[in-house]
Amino acid sequence: MDAQRIHRESIIIDAHCDTLLSLMDRPWPGYVKRDFFTRGDRGHIDLPRLKEGGVTCQVMAVYIEPQYKPVRSARRAMEMLDTFYSLVDESEDFTLATCARDIEEAKAAGKTCALLSIEGGEAVEGSLALLRGFYRLGVRAMGLTWNQRNDIADGVGEKSAGSGLTDFGVSLVKEMERIGMLVDVSHLSDSSFWAVAKVAERPFIASHSNCRALASHPRNLTDEQIEAIAKKGGVIGVVYCPAFVDDSPENVSLKRLCDHIDHIKSVAGIDHVGLGSDFDGFGSPLGGPDAAKVVLKDVSELPKLTEELASRGYTEEEIRKVLGGNWLRVYREVLG
Ligand SMILES: [Zn+2]
Repeated sequence: MDAQRIHRESIIIDAHCDTLLSLMDRPWPGYVKRDFFTRGDRGHIDLPRLKEGGVTCQVMAVYIEPQYKPVRSARRAMEMLDTFYSLVDESEDFTLATCARDIEEAKAAGKTCALLSIEGGEAVEGSLALLRGFYRLGVRAMGLTWNQRNDIADGVGEKSAGSGLTDFGVSLVKEMERIGMLVDVSHLSDSSFWAVAKVAERPFIASHSNCRALASHPRNLTDEQIEAIAKKGGVIGVVYCPAFVDDSPENVSLKRLCDHIDHIKSVAGIDHVGLGSDFDGFGSPLGGPDAAKVVLKDVSELPKLTEELASRGYTEEEIRKVLGGNWLRVYREVLG
């Protein structure tokens, strides 16, 4: 099997990165703002490395840092969207995708595109009008919480309350489904996960989560949660953050990440697994990996993942689904 050909020809979608944060002004000591259009060796993603890695569509998270919560969350989200749009304005080669067809067109034209997602529902500041406003600005997915509790649900860091969705959270999920925005359950507490699974009528996603059966971190999904996502037609993006790949840092590797892909395939079937790297969302403040063992050094190494799946006996059709076909199916169904 020619893994490199499959990689080159496939539509490749990565459902989560925090690269926008590295392009913003931030107060960290030692922090250096990066240039998206120059190939660097800091961090994991810039446009030249996305192209080397063969990525067609990179989902870019608008991540609201704790110091902007709860007030100023919408303002911070707007600042990050402004940074994103300045990238799109600067390059003909980098475009916004808001639906499956935009991604197919980018692939056909040899361009790289990005789909916008909000990470942390604080951004809508309790207002469905703001949610619709962000939709109009191109946002097509939202993680309801980060690790904390908010006015929508409990994040995974909230260990005591055991709450589901608030009344506002229920109306938010319904409105997201109505307007065509993907509900992302990565970072939710278990109890809030199950509340979403109960309320959701459309496919929902876990953009960047692995399997708790293989790595016990609470950010990972139990087999029952994986089944619940699959039952609604959703997809789980496997995440490269070392702590979610294996309990022991020594065991973190590309092969170990692919064990998670194998596991989701065995629990839910090949139609429900994709990529959700979390690139530029872990590592040191400078963006480099701080673990000795990593899944991939950066996005430019992504073809190695295709080679690993091929060596495990995945068929071409299965590899294409994992690389992006499954995300494309969900986007077509939910975003139109
Ligand atoms: Zn995250």
